[in-house]
Amino acid sequence: MSTGALTIDLDALAANWRALDAMTGCETGAVVKANGYGLGAGRVARKLAEAGARRFFVAVAEEGAAVRRAVGPEAEIYVFAGHMEGDARRLSEAGLIPMLNSINQLARHMEALPGHPFGIQLDTGMNRLGFEWADWAEAAPIALDNGPLWLMSHLACADEPDHEMNAYQLDIFRQMTDGLGVPRSLSATGGILLGPDYHFDMTRPGIGLYGGLPFEDAQAVVRLDLPVVQCRDLVAGEVVGYGNSWQADRPSRIATISGGYADGLIRSLSGKATFWHGDTPCPLVGRVSMDLITVDVTDLDGDPAYLTLLGPHQGVDSLARDAGTIGYEVLTSLGRRYVRLENPA
Ligand SMILES: *Cc1c(COP(=O)(O)O)cnc(C)c1O
Repeated sequence: MSTGALTIDLDALAANWRALDAMTGCETGAVVKANGYGLGAGRVARKLAEAGARRFFVAVAEEGAAVRRAVGPEAEIYVFAGHMEGDARRLSEAGLIPMLNSINQLARHMEALPGHPFGIQLDTGMNRLGFEWADWAEAAPIALDNGPLWLMSHLACADEPDHEMNAYQLDIFRQMTDGLGVPRSLSATGGILLGPDYHFDMTRPGIGLYGGLPFEDAQAVVRLDLPVVQCRDLVAGEVVGYGNSWQADRPSRIATISGGYADGLIRSLSGKATFWHGDTPCPLVGRVSMDLITVDVTDLDGDPAYLTLLGPHQGVDSLARDAGTIGYEVLTSLGRRYVRLENPA
């Protein structure tokens, strides 16, 4: 095998969904946008449906069709971007439910797909998606008359439990939705951990399902092994890679492995990441290049066939720290060249 192998632990994924579900007394959806956070929306959604998930969320209508094929006709699939220009046919054919974000979208939906189910997304201060308060006041009578399935909003700072924005958004959400008699959803992974006030009728976890923070008790879902292309000996003083950015200060053995920034191993990992051979750490040396990475394997007993970047010693969040980013970006950047293996197969 000459490309990296990404192994996806589907039982851990299902266990994470169940664990998040058990933290609330309400329903638990599943966010599978961005191709199931990079792991494959079809396989992820199929497994979560098997675990009991009935409501799935994608970012845009285009992503919904693959999820529909995976989960069958019964499950509900919601689209965060709502009903955009040109979406009507796709929403209708794949049976997707747009979360409408503005008066414009509401009008478009009523005109293009009258009677087709929808939800409403409200902005409670994040200023990203959803009806502004004044627009909601104007449109609510019409929207409510047409039976929205859900009213939802999204927290901006839920991964910081003490952030005052959480209580602020909760208060605004209540003011915008109390007494309307429509089921409500406010929380993603972070909001679930904020406690029952934030749960309402359904939660929408994404990252926690895939083993990422802020769900600290998550089981790891991904393992990434990269094959070694060749190994060589360096004498002290020799340099490695573009820009000569690493120089051996002792006689060294350098492994060149298959994988680079074209595979989502972003360049800011240069000189920072650690690979693993079993329990032995091996530092990345020099710069990450497009298809190749160089690793110091001097301390190993022999040349390895592959090195592990994501595994028992290093999860998506610790790799993200080395790269100066977040677990979400590590996951959704995982390269398309990797062979994706499922465990259990
Ligand atoms: C991405 C997203 C989620 C899931 O968030 P996580 O932090 O991954 O759990 C939920 N709701 C909305 C609106 C989102 O955009």
